[in-house]
Amino acid sequence: MLDHNDGKYGTVGAVARDFSGSLAAATSTGGMTNKQPGRVGDAPLIGAGTYAGNRSCAVSATGHGEMFIRLTVARDIAAMVEYLGLDLAEAVSRKLLVELPEVGGAGGVIAVGTTGHPVLTFNTLGMYRASQCEGEEPFIRIFAD
Ligand code: ASP
Repeated sequence: MLDHNDGKYGTVGAVARDFSGSLAAATSTGGMTNKQPGRVGDAPLIGAGTYAGNRSCAVSATGHGEMFIRLTVARDIAAMVEYLGLDLAEAVSRKLLVELPEVGGAGGVIAVGTTGHPVLTFNTLGMYRASQCEGEEPFIRIFAD
């Protein structure tokens, strides 16, 4: 049997905050290996794999899309920031490192809030990731720090 969850994902995601404070997120994916014809993953579903709101944060996700859809990962992170006042890193950790594994989900999230540095979190072995903040050196990593 072919492995649908071999740990290799082809998603490219981006989040940004511009000089005026506008937040944006984008996610592009070919889906998962051996996906069913017609399957729609989390990447194009606003609130699942992609979300941005200027009062909270911008989020782009990669990983096992069904679980990201089930947990509305991107919107939930934004809601925790906006309505509970959670720190972005805390909201991402709660969703990705606590709730996602509880339903057997694996993947990563990049997010940026109204202030502060981007948050790049994953519960897999690694995630190709980079960030750039004005006046700072670029941050580029694959595996955990
Ligand atoms: N999230 C994508 C999907 O489930 C897979 C990926 O990250 O490439 O379609």
